[in-house]
Amino acid sequence: MELWKKSLKELSDLVKSKEVKPSEIVEAFIERKNQVEPKIKAYVTALDDLALEEAKKRDEELTKLENIPDLFGLPIAIKDNISTKDIRTTCSSKMLENFVPVYDATVIERLKSQGYVITGKTNLDEFAMGSSTENSAFFPTRNPWDLERVPGGSSGGSAAVVAAGMAPASLGSDTGGSIRQPAAFCGVVGLKPTYGRVSRYGLVAFASSLDQIGPFGRTVEDVAMIMNVISGKDPKDSTSRSIPVPNYLESLNKDVKGLKIGLPKEFYTEDLNPQIKEIILNAVKQLEKEGMIVEEISLPYTKYAIETYYIIAPSEASSNLARFDGVRYGYRAKEYKNLEEMYSKTRDEGFGAEVKRRIMIGTYALSSGYYDAYYLKAQKVRTLIYQDYMNAFEKVDVIITPTTPDVAFKIGEKSNDPIQMYLSDIFTVSANMATVPAISIPCGFKDNLPVGMQIVGKPFDEETILQVAYRFQSLNDYHKRFPEV
Ligand code: GLN
Repeated sequence: MELWKKSLKELSDLVKSKEVKPSEIVEAFIERKNQVEPKIKAYVTALDDLALEEAKKRDEELTKLENIPDLFGLPIAIKDNISTKDIRTTCSSKMLENFVPVYDATVIERLKSQGYVITGKTNLDEFAMGSSTENSAFFPTRNPWDLERVPGGSSGGSAAVVAAGMAPASLGSDTGGSIRQPAAFCGVVGLKPTYGRVSRYGLVAFASSLDQIGPFGRTVEDVAMIMNVISGKDPKDSTSRSIPVPNYLESLNKDVKGLKIGLPKEFYTEDLNPQIKEIILNAVKQLEKEGMIVEEISLPYTKYAIETYYIIAPSEASSNLARFDGVRYGYRAKEYKNLEEMYSKTRDEGFGAEVKRRIMIGTYALSSGYYDAYYLKAQKVRTLIYQDYMNAFEKVDVIITPTTPDVAFKIGEKSNDPIQMYLSDIFTVSANMATVPAISIPCGFKDNLPVGMQIVGKPFDEETILQVAYRFQSLNDYHKRFPEV
């Protein structure tokens, strides 16, 4: 089998047994990228030369190493809102088009300590605001399963590179679904860790109380392998927690028998597309046959999740994006009469329409006259949503829902209707508000497009959702299918 079709774990085994050199692996992925990237456009910056140079260094080092790290010499793509020292980090915004960070994000330092090889920086909705990657200031990315459709967003580039075989794995970020929704649309595995599981240091902030970095892979093992490396306390991020990190890869095989699955009745309503519903319930049935116990549960406040999220996330965004003023970072307007005009022209020219919309909504919700009515109220509802999940987790071990209400939509289909776009996050945003971990795995096809199943877990219990996902994967072959690009 071609190297680009292999999973990260398979490639890791090949490097460890010294059957294949890192440079051969990296070359295979570059060759594949050269074939399909012109159609998909997943990379903002492809780093072929750097990747080859790094891989050749790994070839050398490999001959001397006794203990070979899991990710040694393996190519991984990075979402372009994660800071990479000396490598342009744009957030797919004109504001940061030429911004070159002077430091690495903690996740990058950790991948480097394993000897990974960066393949490039992937496209996203500007500052991670969106669900389709159409909000990139540069170009939209296309879904490898159907080039007329979106790959999801905001981490659309990171999902598309994995689906199309341009990289075996990637990192994304998830504030309201930006890892899980594109994973579902592209037929790959994506995990949003518990808030505080993975350091956010070096992730360009969107909504700081919701943002988490997480991995994409073709398989559950691949995602577990990356989680082993990026998880854990970081002194540079005070919201990261010093809860011990288990070996996710080694515990995958644990029996799921007797574990309880909760199906929230609020997610399986009349409104849910009947084909999606059938696919998810069939997947749940497979897990039931493995000895898992299925129960209906209720998450009553999740019906307010979208409204609450779209107050909290823009509020935090409006505050975080205040730093882009033409003084500190990136873009500055060419012509202005005074300081105030420099600020306003810089922001007017540097930000796209969706980012401006969020800044306006957020500034409004935080303004003194409306703070109590909007922001404070939303925070209270967020607590109720959190409590819903904690109550449910007294009864069940995992919660299973569809990842998205439907399969990937057409490019342009929702871009003029922000409300329709926001509704595509309906099943994912509440996990961010409740801080809990959630994974999306491919579980079927509708009209030849992938469907994702979301498995949500207790705080810091990534281990159990990975085990359930792994068991499901072992009963199916969705992870072995490739789109024809
Ligand atoms: N689609 C959601 C939004 O636009 C989530 C984005 C994300 O998770 N970064 O806010």
